[in-house]
Amino acid sequence: MPNLLAVPFSFSQSSLQDYSDCQRRFELRHIQQLHWPAEETAPALENEKRQQEGQFFHRLAQQALIGLPLDKLSPLASGEHLSRWWLNFSQAFFPITEKSLSGARLLMETSLSMPLGGHRLVAKFDLLAIHGNKITIYDWKTYHKRPKNEWMKVRLQTRVYPFLVASAAAHLNGGQPLAPEQVEMVYWYTDFPAEPAIFAYTKSQFERDQADLATLVERISNQQEFPLTRDEQKCAFCAYRSYCSRGQQAGHWQDAEVEAEAENAIEINFEQINEIEF
Ligand code: SF4
Repeated sequence: MPNLLAVPFSFSQSSLQDYSDCQRRFELRHIQQLHWPAEETAPALENEKRQQEGQFFHRLAQQALIGLPLDKLSPLASGEHLSRWWLNFSQAFFPITEKSLSGARLLMETSLSMPLGGHRLVAKFDLLAIHGNKITIYDWKTYHKRPKNEWMKVRLQTRVYPFLVASAAAHLNGGQPLAPEQVEMVYWYTDFPAEPAIFAYTKSQFERDQADLATLVERISNQQEFPLTRDEQKCAFCAYRSYCSRGQQAGHWQDAEVEAEAENAIEINFEQINEIEF
């Protein structure tokens, strides 16, 4: 069967993570674009509620960062989880970050795109803060369990985001180049406000990511077969379970290795995003 990957294809951390978790999932979701109606986690309603509140949290955080007063936004933060996340954001993240980022140029909900192996590598960022001689990438996570840093470190997002920002650093920094060491990635957990995960970036990581991502994209481009994962635990939280005959029952959302993220809940259409190309 020929590889029907669109050319150019927009590879994101999310599609690459799908490939890394299960090649068949990548094929079904991103090549065949098969929308299979199974729930990814159960109970579906609780999961859906968290996702909606997560999306709304992202919007509120963005509005706070563009300067809307917190007391005007706070009444909008109603909802079981959202009210807690917002309290943490407005009492912990915002005052500290407002001070540390004083004078920084803030780019919210910004996308970057770069060519890679005849395709594109794309990402959408919650917040990029360009300050002094540094760029900090912030990403909000509404996980109910704080993941270990070792686990986050190997996620494709922790590689793709700093790589793209380091590649675009001069463009973002008014023409002045920055070394990969001047890029850092911060995951801020809405339920664990005092425990962000901070990852520094280095030249050697940049070179490793450049080589690995190019190899991965080339491999996917030339691949004919996309096998099902052998790790059937991945199937418990996958929408294609019944399609793949890997069970009917969705795993409980509290047991999911990572919850469906707000930005992934809505399919991001990178073709329609007004992104910065460099
Ligand atoms: S159900 Fe399992 S094998 Fe099928 S796409 Fe999902 S993770 Fe892969």
